[in-house]
Amino acid sequence: MNGRTFLFPLELQGFGSADVESLSSYLWRHSEAHQVPIGIFLRLGFDWLSRRDGVPSKAPYFARNPGTLAHYVRPTENTRAVVNLLSAGTREDNLRCATFLALEQGLDRCMKTFHNSVRWCPACLAEQEAEGAIPYFKLAWSLASLTQCPTHGLPLLDRCPHCSAKQCGFGLRGSCTTCARCQKSLCDQHHGAPVPGTWRVESKDLWKLLGRIGSTPDVTFQSGGTAKALNSLLDTAWRSDRAVDLWKIVPRDELLAITYGQSPVTLTIVRRISYRLGVDPTDLLDGCIQNTVPALDPSWTKTLPTAIQPKRRIDRHNLPWLRERLNEELQSSVRSAPPALVVVARKLGVSTGCIRHHFPVHAFEILARHKRWRQLEVRRKHAAAKGAVQRALRDPLVRSQATRKGVLRELRGQTGLPKNVLRREVSRALDVGRVMGRSGVMRPQSPKARV
Ligand SMILES: [Zn+2]
Ligand SMILES: [Zn+2]
Repeated sequence: MNGRTFLFPLELQGFGSADVESLSSYLWRHSEAHQVPIGIFLRLGFDWLSRRDGVPSKAPYFARNPGTLAHYVRPTENTRAVVNLLSAGTREDNLRCATFLALEQGLDRCMKTFHNSVRWCPACLAEQEAEGAIPYFKLAWSLASLTQCPTHGLPLLDRCPHCSAKQCGFGLRGSCTTCARCQKSLCDQHHGAPVPGTWRVESKDLWKLLGRIGSTPDVTFQSGGTAKALNSLLDTAWRSDRAVDLWKIVPRDELLAITYGQSPVTLTIVRRISYRLGVDPTDLLDGCIQNTVPALDPSWTKTLPTAIQPKRRIDRHNLPWLRERLNEELQSSVRSAPPALVVVARKLGVSTGCIRHHFPVHAFEILARHKRWRQLEVRRKHAAAKGAVQRALRDPLVRSQATRKGVLRELRGQTGLPKNVLRREVSRALDVGRVMGRSGVMRPQSPKARV
């Protein structure tokens, strides 16, 4: 091979810092540089790689299961495949830094860790553009717990301020500052940023982790690191007879569930425990927390930041108010269509579990009423469909000319009944007709015309 690369050797932006670029952004910039939609770029890339290496292409798998552009930072098989492809195509050796692949083994689950959409701080993008730098999306913006820019305090956006489009597709891209749909600027809302110091920087504890990921291409947190660190902490506490003090900092059940491998280690749990112990989550993931002894001080009382607070199990609801609303609900919709429990719960701003737990009788009645109504609806629709089909087939013109599809289309327009209900009644009526020797009135059906 000569010195040329298969893909333009774009440089990863922000490498060596916590402001490192995300892989989604890197793909975006490749689409712009090569003037190819991201989806086609990936397919052609994987084809090239499979020819080069003589192995089956990954492209069919991607075509079936591509996710969204925002997903290409998560520690998954897809992300790894894209990193391999881009590294081979550009010969850039630091692209793993644009992802959270480092956490693949260190965490058991990544539920709710990452945001589902490509997000950005309009002021950061505007600044990059004004400075003449290459605009890019930062890896940090894909963390769900980060809702505002740590530098500008602005809320992170995930929709175009002009056309509300998400930027998660696999189409053709221009600069990272322009909307993939309407081509207008994504950074038009960067004015009115709050004065520095007037907002609280979120997820500060993740900066060391992001810095490490953003500057060390081969960093990997070993599986069981967190459990190992907590185990040694437990040992220390037992030995110095301070286990009770430790429970005051980290609830006993939570700690034991992790050390025994009963509860999955997620980033939120790692952050919560690190916060309580006063250590950095990166150290906990690394399996070494030597500096925790001061934290074994019972006066250690810190409130957790909202993003990592455990889900509150205690009652927060105004129960008398809720009872009244449920009573109203049961009285009001008796005549019309009674809503499902989940609809009622959503309307009242609580979970179905909350209603079931606090008001089991109401919950039962709401469920039963909705079920009864649904059964009646099914029967009513079938009866209506049957009548409509019979009326239609009585018409000689329909009988002589119609295909099943035609009859169905006609009836759907007339009755507004669900397609599957009508389809069953049409089939039933026609089958009866056939048995009675009237099948000649319908043209034979090709498999395609069958409904
Ligand atoms: Zn910003
Ligand atoms: Zn737009």
